Amino acid sequence: MKPELLAPAGDLARAKTAIRFGADAVYLGGKRFSLRSRASNFELEDIAEAVRFAKEYDAKIYVTVNMVPHDEDLQGLEVYLLALEKCGVAAIIVASLHIALLSKKIAPAMEVHLSTQLSLTNSAAIETVRRFGVDRVVLAREVSLAQIETISSASSMPLEVFIHGGMCVNLSGRCTLSNEMTLRDANRGGCAQSCRWKYKLYRDQTEISDPNCLFSMSSKDLLAIEEIPTLMKQGISSFKIEGRMKSAYYITVVVDAYRKLIDAIDQGEDEKEAIEKARKMLMKAENRPTSDGFFRTIPGATHHLYGVNGEGITQDFVANVIETHPNGRTSILIRNNLPVHTELDVLSPGNDVRSFTLEAMYRKGEAIEVANLPMEVLDIEIPFRVESGDFIRKKGS
Ligand code: SF4
Repeated sequence: MKPELLAPAGDLARAKTAIRFGADAVYLGGKRFSLRSRASNFELEDIAEAVRFAKEYDAKIYVTVNMVPHDEDLQGLEVYLLALEKCGVAAIIVASLHIALLSKKIAPAMEVHLSTQLSLTNSAAIETVRRFGVDRVVLAREVSLAQIETISSASSMPLEVFIHGGMCVNLSGRCTLSNEMTLRDANRGGCAQSCRWKYKLYRDQTEISDPNCLFSMSSKDLLAIEEIPTLMKQGISSFKIEGRMKSAYYITVVVDAYRKLIDAIDQGEDEKEAIEKARKMLMKAENRPTSDGFFRTIPGATHHLYGVNGEGITQDFVANVIETHPNGRTSILIRNNLPVHTELDVLSPGNDVRSFTLEAMYRKGEAIEVANLPMEVLDIEIPFRVESGDFIRKKGS
């Protein structure tokens, strides 16, 4: 069976984008009980709207309830679980066996998926958590392809595997760096990503770090395009993309690339060609340096992110399509500097990238030469059909 492609979303717009571009399911966090609760933009009504939109595309919404709760955190939990069930949420992702059991008891319409934070690395542990009503296990990121094969052969539990995005330098979120440096509890929704800060290194009292390349504790991001064919043969149920904080453009490019890769392999197309095509597509996203994580070997020096903690911000993404008009013009929302005569690509769900040259641009009917006000709405002519929400970027950059 074809695996589910599971995408992250930091807000409703990104959830809809991920679904339009081919995600089978989207995971998001509410304002409480989630590891990214500080950054969440999802009120319950947004979650309900995400569910409604997802149903139009036969997709699902999962909600992270994955904090590691202390006693005082449990207040309001039952009400929240009931509300999520009422919204039509398909599953919650939890890191607490208590929450797993409670949800199965009071909100049985929702599946319970056990978070990667449980660090499940073997089939015996997976069979053990079955007693808690768990419907799916998100494997620890610290397992190899060979270990996944063993687990998958020994257990009938549906398995979810991370395929793309940031890695925790500690064991899948079991980390107190943020707690110690900022008093923000990483396991209760407050991670300050302290591993990604830049640090000066000292030997005794002498600074030994290069001031132009300060030290970062982080690992490179995960990129698993090479592993997708094997993971599909292993019968993994769900392929998960990390990045609830990522931009809509990033989500679009990554979802589009993996959607096309999974479909190509499923249809028996040449694997190498499909992987190289996906690699080229992914290079257009705002990526940090990548590695294959734990899939083939224990990560070593080549998997570490020395001296870099940000991602290459791309100026390539220049606009979103808002709407097309009967006069043939299309209104677009400007996101980056855009002069006329630029060659552009359009990313539309289900289509290959289509290109055109921007011949003219209009502000309230007046022709202009360059768009340089972000979030301004301008009109252009596009020589093929586009849809609201499509992404426009500079061609071949
Ligand atoms: S500080 Fe880094 S390693 Fe620790 S939980 Fe946050 S992201 Fe993960």
